[in-house]
Amino acid sequence: MINYGRQFIDDEDIQAVVDTLKSDFLTQGSKVPEFESAVCDRVNAKFAVAANSATSALHLACLAVDLKEGDIVWTAPNTFVASSNCALYCGAKVDFVDIDKDTWNMCPDKLRIKLEESKQKNLLPKAVIPVHFSGQPTIQEEIYKLSKEYNFIIIEDASHSIGSSRNNEPSGSCKWSDIAIFSFHPVKMITTGEGGMALTNNEEYAKKMDLFRSHGISRDSNILEKNDLPKYYYEQHSLGYNYRMTDIHAALGISQLRKLDKFIDTRNKIASRYNTELKELPLDLPCIAEGNKSSYHLYVIKVKDTFSKQKSRDKIYSELIEMGIGVNLHYLPVHLHPYYRKLGFCDNQYPVSENYADNALSIPIFYSLTKDQQTKVIDSIKQALK
Ligand SMILES: *Cc1c(COP(=O)(O)O)cnc(C)c1O
Repeated sequence: MINYGRQFIDDEDIQAVVDTLKSDFLTQGSKVPEFESAVCDRVNAKFAVAANSATSALHLACLAVDLKEGDIVWTAPNTFVASSNCALYCGAKVDFVDIDKDTWNMCPDKLRIKLEESKQKNLLPKAVIPVHFSGQPTIQEEIYKLSKEYNFIIIEDASHSIGSSRNNEPSGSCKWSDIAIFSFHPVKMITTGEGGMALTNNEEYAKKMDLFRSHGISRDSNILEKNDLPKYYYEQHSLGYNYRMTDIHAALGISQLRKLDKFIDTRNKIASRYNTELKELPLDLPCIAEGNKSSYHLYVIKVKDTFSKQKSRDKIYSELIEMGIGVNLHYLPVHLHPYYRKLGFCDNQYPVSENYADNALSIPIFYSLTKDQQTKVIDSIKQALK
Protein backbone atom coordinates (compact mmCIF):
# COMPACT_ATOMS: atom_id res chain seq x y z
CA MET A 1 0.00 0.00 0.00
CA ILE A 2 1.34 3.45 -0.92
CA ASN A 3 0.15 5.66 1.94
CA TYR A 4 -0.96 9.25 1.29
CA GLY A 5 1.96 10.53 3.36
CA ARG A 6 4.99 9.29 5.22
CA GLN A 7 8.15 10.50 6.90
CA PHE A 8 11.65 10.43 5.43
CA ILE A 9 14.40 9.56 7.92
CA ASP A 10 18.07 9.32 6.90
CA ASP A 11 21.28 8.33 8.72
CA GLU A 12 21.88 11.93 9.83
CA ASP A 13 18.51 11.99 11.57
CA ILE A 14 19.27 8.69 13.28
CA GLN A 15 22.72 9.88 14.36
CA ALA A 16 21.26 13.11 15.77
CA VAL A 17 18.86 11.12 17.94
CA VAL A 18 21.56 8.66 19.03
CA ASP A 19 23.89 11.53 19.97
CA THR A 20 21.20 13.04 22.16
CA LEU A 21 20.46 9.68 23.77
CA LYS A 22 24.14 9.49 24.73
CA SER A 23 24.22 13.07 26.06
CA ASP A 24 23.49 14.35 29.57
CA PHE A 25 20.02 15.66 28.84
CA LEU A 26 17.11 13.81 27.27
CA THR A 27 14.84 16.72 28.10
CA GLN A 28 15.29 20.35 29.20
CA GLY A 29 18.78 20.43 27.67
CA SER A 30 20.09 22.55 24.81
CA LYS A 31 18.37 20.84 21.85
CA VAL A 32 14.91 22.34 22.30
CA PRO A 33 16.15 25.97 22.37
CA GLU A 34 18.41 25.14 19.43
CA PHE A 35 15.48 23.77 17.44
CA GLU A 36 13.33 26.76 18.40
CA SER A 37 15.89 29.25 17.21
CA ALA A 38 16.51 27.30 13.98
CA VAL A 39 12.79 27.41 13.16
CA CYS A 40 12.63 31.15 14.05
CA ASP A 41 15.49 31.80 11.64
CA ARG A 42 13.89 29.69 8.93
CA VAL A 43 10.49 31.38 9.03
CA ASN A 44 11.45 34.87 10.18
CA ALA A 45 9.65 34.89 13.50
CA LYS A 46 10.99 36.37 16.74
CA PHE A 47 9.95 33.76 19.30
CA ALA A 48 9.24 30.03 19.26
CA VAL A 49 7.85 27.70 21.89
CA ALA A 50 8.21 24.00 21.12
CA ALA A 51 5.64 21.58 22.50
CA ASN A 52 4.99 17.85 22.51
CA SER A 53 2.40 18.22 19.74
CA ALA A 54 0.70 20.88 17.62
CA THR A 55 -2.44 20.17 19.60
CA SER A 56 -0.61 21.19 22.80
CA ALA A 57 0.84 24.23 21.03
CA LEU A 58 -2.65 25.28 19.88
CA HIS A 59 -3.85 24.96 23.47
CA LEU A 60 -0.86 27.03 24.67
CA ALA A 61 -1.72 29.71 22.12
CA CYS A 62 -5.32 29.85 23.31
CA LEU A 63 -4.12 30.14 26.92
CA ALA A 64 -1.63 32.86 26.01
CA VAL A 65 -4.31 35.04 24.46
CA ASP A 66 -6.42 34.40 27.54
CA LEU A 67 -9.33 32.59 25.95
CA LYS A 68 -11.95 31.68 28.48
CA GLU A 69 -15.58 30.90 29.11
CA GLY A 70 -17.84 33.30 27.28
CA ASP A 71 -15.31 33.89 24.48
CA ILE A 72 -16.03 32.90 20.89
CA VAL A 73 -13.54 31.36 18.43
CA TRP A 74 -14.02 30.74 14.73
CA THR A 75 -12.17 28.31 12.50
CA ALA A 76 -12.82 26.49 9.22
CA PRO A 77 -14.89 23.28 9.16
CA ASN A 78 -12.39 21.68 6.78
CA THR A 79 -9.69 20.90 9.31
CA PHE A 80 -8.48 18.42 11.87
CA VAL A 81 -10.49 18.57 15.08
CA ALA A 82 -7.52 19.96 17.04
CA SER A 83 -7.94 23.41 15.37
CA SER A 84 -11.27 23.71 17.11
CA ASN A 85 -10.83 21.57 20.24
CA CYS A 86 -8.12 23.92 21.54
CA ALA A 87 -10.73 26.64 22.05
CA LEU A 88 -13.10 24.22 23.79
CA TYR A 89 -10.31 23.28 26.24
CA CYS A 90 -10.42 26.89 27.45
CA GLY A 91 -14.20 26.89 27.82
CA ALA A 92 -14.70 29.10 24.77
CA LYS A 93 -17.49 28.55 22.23
CA VAL A 94 -16.61 27.52 18.68
CA ASP A 95 -18.21 28.50 15.40
CA PHE A 96 -17.11 28.05 11.80
CA VAL A 97 -16.58 30.03 8.61
CA ASP A 98 -17.09 28.06 5.40
CA ILE A 99 -14.30 27.54 2.89
CA ASP A 100 -13.74 28.93 -0.59
CA LYS A 101 -14.78 26.47 -3.30
CA ASP A 102 -11.49 26.77 -5.20
CA THR A 103 -8.74 27.08 -2.58
CA TRP A 104 -10.56 25.02 0.09
CA ASN A 105 -9.36 27.55 2.69
CA MET A 106 -11.42 29.79 4.97
CA CYS A 107 -13.10 32.29 2.63
CA PRO A 108 -12.29 35.92 3.55
CA ASP A 109 -15.57 37.16 1.99
CA LYS A 110 -17.62 34.76 4.08
CA LEU A 111 -15.59 35.79 7.10
CA ARG A 112 -16.41 39.45 6.47
CA ILE A 113 -20.13 38.73 6.03
CA LYS A 114 -20.23 36.65 9.20
CA LEU A 115 -18.39 39.40 11.10
CA GLU A 116 -20.90 42.01 9.92
CA GLU A 117 -23.82 39.81 10.98
CA SER A 118 -22.24 38.86 14.29
CA LYS A 119 -21.54 42.47 15.17
CA GLN A 120 -25.29 43.19 15.08
CA LYS A 121 -25.90 40.26 17.40
CA ASN A 122 -22.96 41.06 19.69
CA LEU A 123 -21.40 37.69 18.91
CA LEU A 124 -18.01 38.74 17.55
CA PRO A 125 -15.14 36.26 17.99
CA LYS A 126 -12.22 36.95 20.31
CA ALA A 127 -9.99 34.81 18.10
CA VAL A 128 -10.05 33.36 14.58
CA ILE A 129 -8.01 30.27 13.69
CA PRO A 130 -7.42 30.08 9.92
CA VAL A 131 -5.92 26.83 8.62
CA HIS A 132 -3.52 26.76 5.67
CA PHE A 133 -5.18 23.69 4.28
CA SER A 134 -2.93 21.20 2.47
CA GLY A 135 -0.09 23.75 2.73
CA GLN A 136 -1.72 26.52 0.73
CA PRO A 137 -1.65 29.78 2.74
CA THR A 138 -4.96 31.52 3.38
CA ILE A 139 -5.42 35.03 1.96
CA GLN A 140 -3.93 36.04 5.28
CA GLU A 141 -3.50 39.78 4.66
CA GLU A 142 -7.28 40.10 4.18
CA ILE A 143 -8.02 38.16 7.34
CA TYR A 144 -5.49 40.41 9.09
CA LYS A 145 -7.25 43.54 7.81
CA LEU A 146 -10.54 42.23 9.18
CA SER A 147 -8.87 41.48 12.52
CA LYS A 148 -8.00 45.16 12.86
CA GLU A 149 -11.49 46.25 11.90
CA TYR A 150 -13.30 43.78 14.16
CA ASN A 151 -10.66 43.43 16.85
CA PHE A 152 -9.94 39.73 16.98
CA ILE A 153 -6.76 37.75 17.59
CA ILE A 154 -5.40 35.50 14.85
CA ILE A 155 -3.90 32.11 15.65
CA GLU A 156 -2.82 30.44 12.41
CA ASP A 157 -3.08 26.68 12.38
CA ALA A 158 -0.02 26.28 10.15
CA SER A 159 0.24 22.54 10.82
CA HIS A 160 0.31 21.92 7.06
CA SER A 161 2.42 24.82 5.98
CA ILE A 162 6.00 24.93 7.26
CA GLY A 163 7.89 25.68 4.03
CA SER A 164 4.96 27.46 2.37
CA SER A 165 4.93 31.16 1.63
CA ARG A 166 2.58 33.92 0.53
CA ASN A 167 4.01 36.84 -1.44
CA ASN A 168 7.43 35.52 -0.36
CA GLU A 169 6.45 35.79 3.30
CA PRO A 170 7.19 32.43 4.95
CA SER A 171 4.34 30.67 6.70
CA GLY A 172 4.93 31.06 10.44
CA SER A 173 6.47 34.56 10.24
CA CYS A 174 3.31 35.94 11.90
CA LYS A 175 3.39 38.99 9.66
CA TRP A 176 -0.41 38.79 9.46
CA SER A 177 -1.20 37.07 12.74
CA ASP A 178 -0.49 36.90 16.46
CA ILE A 179 0.64 33.29 16.75
CA ALA A 180 1.23 30.47 14.25
CA ILE A 181 1.39 26.74 15.00
CA PHE A 182 3.39 24.04 13.21
CA SER A 183 2.96 20.27 13.57
CA PHE A 184 5.78 17.75 13.33
CA HIS A 185 3.64 14.61 13.12
CA PRO A 186 5.22 12.06 10.72
CA VAL A 187 2.80 12.81 7.86
CA LYS A 188 3.65 16.53 7.98
CA MET A 189 6.56 18.15 6.09
CA ILE A 190 9.21 17.53 8.75
CA THR A 191 8.82 15.31 11.79
CA THR A 192 9.91 14.91 15.38
CA GLY A 193 7.76 11.78 15.87
CA GLU A 194 5.21 13.82 17.79
CA GLY A 195 5.75 17.53 18.25
CA GLY A 196 4.62 21.04 17.49
CA MET A 197 5.71 24.63 17.81
CA ALA A 198 4.13 28.02 18.38
CA LEU A 199 5.72 31.01 16.62
CA THR A 200 5.05 34.62 17.56
CA ASN A 201 6.55 38.10 17.41
CA ASN A 202 4.84 39.04 20.68
CA GLU A 203 7.17 38.57 23.64
CA GLU A 204 4.37 38.50 26.18
CA TYR A 205 2.59 35.66 24.36
CA ALA A 206 5.90 33.77 24.08
CA LYS A 207 6.55 34.07 27.82
CA LYS A 208 3.04 32.95 28.68
CA MET A 209 3.25 29.92 26.38
CA ASP A 210 6.61 29.03 27.91
CA LEU A 211 5.08 29.18 31.40
CA PHE A 212 1.96 27.20 30.50
CA ARG A 213 4.08 24.55 28.78
CA SER A 214 5.80 23.73 32.07
CA HIS A 215 3.19 23.71 34.86
CA GLY A 216 3.03 27.52 35.13
CA ILE A 217 6.30 27.28 37.02
CA SER A 218 9.10 29.85 36.75
CA ARG A 219 12.63 30.37 38.05
CA ASP A 220 12.98 33.66 36.17
CA SER A 221 14.02 36.33 38.69
CA ASN A 222 12.03 38.92 36.74
CA ILE A 223 8.85 36.99 37.41
CA LEU A 224 9.41 35.67 40.95
CA GLU A 225 7.64 37.48 43.75
CA LYS A 226 10.53 36.91 46.14
CA ASN A 227 14.16 37.65 45.36
CA ASP A 228 17.67 36.87 46.57
CA LEU A 229 16.74 33.23 46.83
CA PRO A 230 18.71 29.99 46.37
CA LYS A 231 18.83 28.40 42.91
CA TYR A 232 16.45 25.57 43.77
CA TYR A 233 13.63 28.04 44.36
CA TYR A 234 10.74 28.29 41.89
CA GLU A 235 7.18 29.54 41.93
CA GLN A 236 3.98 28.46 40.25
CA HIS A 237 2.05 31.44 38.93
CA SER A 238 -0.67 29.85 36.82
CA LEU A 239 -2.20 26.43 36.23
CA GLY A 240 0.03 25.04 33.50
CA TYR A 241 0.64 21.64 31.93
CA ASN A 242 3.54 19.45 30.96
CA TYR A 243 3.54 20.09 27.22
CA ARG A 244 7.33 20.12 26.85
CA MET A 245 9.11 18.66 23.85
CA THR A 246 12.04 16.35 24.71
CA ASP A 247 15.60 16.95 23.48
CA ILE A 248 15.43 13.62 21.63
CA HIS A 249 12.53 14.93 19.55
CA ALA A 250 14.16 18.33 19.09
CA ALA A 251 17.40 16.73 17.85
CA LEU A 252 15.40 14.94 15.17
CA GLY A 253 13.64 18.21 14.35
CA ILE A 254 16.91 20.12 13.89
CA SER A 255 18.17 17.45 11.53
CA GLN A 256 14.87 17.29 9.60
CA LEU A 257 14.71 21.07 9.23
CA ARG A 258 17.95 21.01 7.22
CA LYS A 259 16.09 18.95 4.61
CA LEU A 260 12.95 21.09 4.50
CA ASP A 261 13.82 22.86 1.22
CA LYS A 262 14.54 19.61 -0.54
CA PHE A 263 11.31 18.06 0.83
CA ILE A 264 9.20 21.00 -0.37
CA ASP A 265 10.90 21.05 -3.73
CA THR A 266 10.18 17.38 -4.37
CA ARG A 267 6.58 17.70 -3.17
CA ASN A 268 6.10 20.57 -5.64
CA LYS A 269 7.58 18.51 -8.46
CA ILE A 270 5.24 15.61 -7.72
CA ALA A 271 2.29 18.03 -7.55
CA SER A 272 3.23 19.49 -10.87
CA ARG A 273 3.36 16.03 -12.47
CA TYR A 274 -0.09 15.23 -11.02
CA ASN A 275 -1.39 18.59 -12.32
CA THR A 276 -0.32 17.64 -15.83
CA GLU A 277 -1.29 14.00 -15.87
CA LEU A 278 -4.66 14.24 -14.12
CA LYS A 279 -5.96 17.38 -15.82
CA GLU A 280 -8.14 15.64 -18.42
CA LEU A 281 -10.03 13.64 -15.79
CA PRO A 282 -13.38 14.68 -14.25
CA LEU A 283 -11.58 16.09 -11.22
CA ASP A 284 -11.06 19.43 -9.54
CA LEU A 285 -7.34 19.70 -8.81
CA PRO A 286 -5.64 21.96 -6.26
CA CYS A 287 -6.04 25.60 -7.18
CA ILE A 288 -3.14 27.63 -5.82
CA ALA A 289 -3.95 31.33 -5.37
CA GLU A 290 -1.67 33.95 -6.90
CA GLY A 291 1.33 34.74 -4.73
CA ASN A 292 1.12 31.43 -2.88
CA LYS A 293 3.72 28.71 -2.68
CA SER A 294 2.32 25.52 -1.18
CA SER A 295 4.27 23.01 0.87
CA TYR A 296 1.93 20.39 -0.64
CA HIS A 297 1.44 18.63 2.66
CA LEU A 298 -1.53 17.11 0.85
CA TYR A 299 -2.48 16.72 -2.79
CA VAL A 300 -6.26 16.58 -2.97
CA ILE A 301 -8.36 15.55 -5.95
CA LYS A 302 -12.06 16.35 -5.86
CA VAL A 303 -14.43 14.32 -8.01
CA LYS A 304 -16.51 16.70 -10.13
CA ASP A 305 -20.17 16.85 -9.06
CA THR A 306 -21.31 15.70 -12.52
CA PHE A 307 -19.13 12.59 -12.39
CA SER A 308 -19.86 11.67 -8.77
CA LYS A 309 -23.49 11.08 -9.76
CA GLN A 310 -22.21 8.28 -12.02
CA LYS A 311 -19.69 6.94 -9.58
CA SER A 312 -19.43 8.00 -5.98
CA ARG A 313 -16.27 9.11 -4.28
CA ASP A 314 -16.63 6.22 -1.84
CA LYS A 315 -16.69 3.74 -4.73
CA ILE A 316 -13.58 5.38 -6.21
CA TYR A 317 -11.98 5.34 -2.78
CA SER A 318 -12.57 1.57 -2.35
CA GLU A 319 -11.26 0.77 -5.81
CA LEU A 320 -8.08 2.78 -5.24
CA ILE A 321 -7.49 1.09 -1.86
CA GLU A 322 -8.02 -2.23 -3.64
CA MET A 323 -5.30 -1.23 -6.13
CA GLY A 324 -2.89 -0.45 -3.28
CA ILE A 325 -3.24 3.34 -3.34
CA GLY A 326 -3.61 4.56 0.25
CA VAL A 327 -5.95 7.45 -0.43
CA ASN A 328 -7.58 9.21 2.49
CA LEU A 329 -10.10 11.95 3.31
CA HIS A 330 -9.03 15.27 4.84
CA TYR A 331 -11.36 16.09 6.45
CA LEU A 332 -14.72 15.05 7.71
CA PRO A 333 -16.01 18.55 8.55
CA VAL A 334 -15.42 19.25 12.25
CA HIS A 335 -19.02 20.34 12.90
CA LEU A 336 -20.40 16.98 11.73
CA HIS A 337 -18.59 14.85 14.31
CA PRO A 338 -20.99 13.45 16.93
CA TYR A 339 -19.29 15.50 19.66
CA TYR A 340 -19.92 18.72 17.74
CA ARG A 341 -23.45 17.76 16.72
CA LYS A 342 -24.19 17.48 20.44
CA LEU A 343 -23.04 21.09 20.75
CA GLY A 344 -25.79 22.00 18.27
CA PHE A 345 -24.17 21.78 14.84
CA CYS A 346 -25.94 19.97 11.98
CA ASP A 347 -25.87 19.12 8.26
CA ASN A 348 -26.05 21.83 5.58
CA GLN A 349 -24.59 24.56 7.78
CA TYR A 350 -21.37 24.86 5.79
CA PRO A 351 -22.31 23.58 2.32
CA VAL A 352 -18.97 24.17 0.58
CA SER A 353 -17.05 22.19 3.21
CA GLU A 354 -19.67 19.45 3.15
CA ASN A 355 -19.67 19.16 -0.64
CA TYR A 356 -15.88 19.12 -0.54
CA ALA A 357 -15.86 16.34 2.07
CA ASP A 358 -18.31 14.27 -0.01
CA ASN A 359 -16.04 14.32 -3.06
CA ALA A 360 -12.42 14.79 -2.02
CA LEU A 361 -9.54 12.33 -1.76
CA SER A 362 -5.95 12.93 -0.66
CA ILE A 363 -3.62 10.98 -2.94
CA PRO A 364 -0.03 9.95 -2.09
CA ILE A 365 2.51 12.76 -1.92
CA PHE A 366 5.74 12.65 0.08
CA TYR A 367 9.47 13.10 -0.45
CA SER A 368 10.39 9.45 -1.04
CA LEU A 369 7.50 8.68 -3.43
CA THR A 370 9.34 7.20 -6.42
CA LYS A 371 8.61 8.01 -10.09
CA ASP A 372 7.26 4.46 -10.54
CA GLN A 373 4.98 4.84 -7.56
CA GLN A 374 3.75 8.18 -8.95
CA THR A 375 3.01 6.43 -12.24
CA LYS A 376 1.10 3.73 -10.41
CA VAL A 377 -0.94 6.37 -8.55
CA ILE A 378 -1.75 8.18 -11.81
CA ASP A 379 -2.66 4.99 -13.71
CA SER A 380 -4.83 3.75 -10.86
CA ILE A 381 -6.74 7.01 -10.68
CA LYS A 382 -7.28 6.94 -14.47
CA GLN A 383 -8.54 3.38 -14.13
CA ALA A 384 -10.92 4.22 -11.26
CA LEU A 385 -12.34 7.22 -13.13
CA LYS A 386 -13.02 5.41 -16.41
C1 LIG B 1 -1.85 17.49 12.27
C2 LIG B 1 -2.72 18.63 12.59
C3 LIG B 1 -2.93 19.10 13.89
C4 LIG B 1 -2.44 18.39 15.10
O1 LIG B 1 -1.12 18.13 15.08
P1 LIG B 1 -0.47 17.17 16.18
O2 LIG B 1 0.97 17.54 16.12
O3 LIG B 1 -0.76 15.78 15.72
O4 LIG B 1 -1.10 17.47 17.50
C5 LIG B 1 -3.68 20.25 14.07
N1 LIG B 1 -4.24 20.88 13.03
C6 LIG B 1 -4.11 20.43 11.77
C7 LIG B 1 -4.75 21.19 10.67
C8 LIG B 1 -3.37 19.28 11.52
O5 LIG B 1 -3.28 18.81 10.27
